[in-house]
Amino acid sequence: MKRVIIVGMGFGGIRAARELAGKGMEVVMLDRNNYHLFQPLLYQVATAALEQESIAYPIRAMARRWPETRFRLAEVCGVDLEGKRVMTSEGPMEYDYLIVSAGSETNYFGMTSIAEHAYDLKKLEHAETLRNQILGLFERAVKEHDPAKRRAMLTFVIVGGGPTGVEFSGALVELVRYVLAKDYPELSITECRVMLVEASGSILISQPENLRKYAVDRLRRMGVEVLLNTAVSDAAPEHVIFKDGTIIPTHTLFWSAGVKAAPLAGVLDLPKAGGGRIKVKPDLTVEGHPEVYIVGDMACCEQDGAVLPMVAPVAMQMGSYAGKSILARQAERELPPFRYKDKGSMATIGRSSAVASAFGFHLSGYLAWMAWLGLHLMYLVGFRNRILVIMNWGWYYLFHERQVRLITMQESGPPKCTWK
Ligand SMILES: Cc1cc2nc3c(=O)[nH]c(=O)nc-3n(C[C@H](O)[C@H](O)[C@H](O)COP(=O)(O)OP(=O)(O)OC[C@H]3O[C@@H](n4cnc5c(N)ncnc54)[C@H](O)[C@@H]3O)c2cc1C
Repeated sequence: MKRVIIVGMGFGGIRAARELAGKGMEVVMLDRNNYHLFQPLLYQVATAALEQESIAYPIRAMARRWPETRFRLAEVCGVDLEGKRVMTSEGPMEYDYLIVSAGSETNYFGMTSIAEHAYDLKKLEHAETLRNQILGLFERAVKEHDPAKRRAMLTFVIVGGGPTGVEFSGALVELVRYVLAKDYPELSITECRVMLVEASGSILISQPENLRKYAVDRLRRMGVEVLLNTAVSDAAPEHVIFKDGTIIPTHTLFWSAGVKAAPLAGVLDLPKAGGGRIKVKPDLTVEGHPEVYIVGDMACCEQDGAVLPMVAPVAMQMGSYAGKSILARQAERELPPFRYKDKGSMATIGRSSAVASAFGFHLSGYLAWMAWLGLHLMYLVGFRNRILVIMNWGWYYLFHERQVRLITMQESGPPKCTWK
């Protein structure tokens, strides 16, 4: 039986495994985590809307339903392309076919001070850290008598006007206005600032002009300070500095202004493109190695003169294609080149408000929001997770409450008694 190794059980990896399961191949799935993570909802964990468990799903639970697949919890450190071996923390593993879908990491474009002080959202633990930071600062602000220091604690700077920055800033301002304002009667809501900083002249650049304008207007009405044509150039623990020299006192800089290929791409001796992504051929294999497929955020694949974006639908379609392509080759057939079918894009802004564009249709407001909710529920893995998410969303919609307002770790450790 031929062995396929899949590295990374994110959006691309699970689609490939699903395609290959029970089709006469031995499928070995590798990931450093034992769960599949639904990254698009990480910001809701960070803003106390969802429990972290509800956006992750154990890979072994999926494997139960997929015949001839098995999972190994392992860190992949490299690939011996000539010897057809994957080097892992559990030792080398041989393959006949390899699918690499190890995703991406945050790109700080070499700005070390920002990398050192910024928060990002790529992993489950990042979301919990960010939630602890936000709620921890409110607790500290209650005890702070200096208004300037208190204001710095309650200022949140979000960099990057893509979907993650927009969704996070909308969710954060709603958390502050509707939930934390009730939890912290000692604090004035007007002291809190949520700033969305975007270097270009527009947010949500993949959306049409009317929807971008809607998003900016809506965020501003909700209380987010949207700063366009503004770039952050430096950061320290208690302030950020804009390119024009403006200093914003803050303890929280959230960076969502760029991604690059996961570090594993760097150790593979294969041609790279921008952001360290690996150049793939139209069938998603790499030059000189027809048995190696790169899919998802790690792959640089051109279509109609443009590079495909690093988004979940691209990863899912690539993963399915790689699986189908291997099966076709086993049956001595060839598939036509990979072709991404763009079904549109969307971003939520706040309660009852989102933007969506697909097949020439532009939607904003409640209808777009309902479409966003439906689509995210559909792609979330696990029936129980869907129920939990619906319950949390329903609770928030009806009562304006977010239940997961837990500080699970404090920056300076738990409070200590210093008197005797
Ligand atoms: C906060 C956030 C919000 C997003 N919102 C949206 C959205 O609204 N819509 C959208 O379409 N896309 C969104 N995306 C992008 C989307 O999540 C990615 O495009 C998608 O996850 C890429 O899939 P992938 O399979 O390439 O990688 P991933 O889903 O990232 O999976 C990679 C997997 O590889 C594993 N891995 C990595 N390196 C190793 C290693 N060395 N050894 C072992 N395992 C390894 C990881 O643990 C992970 O499980 C968002 C991303 C983030 C971070």
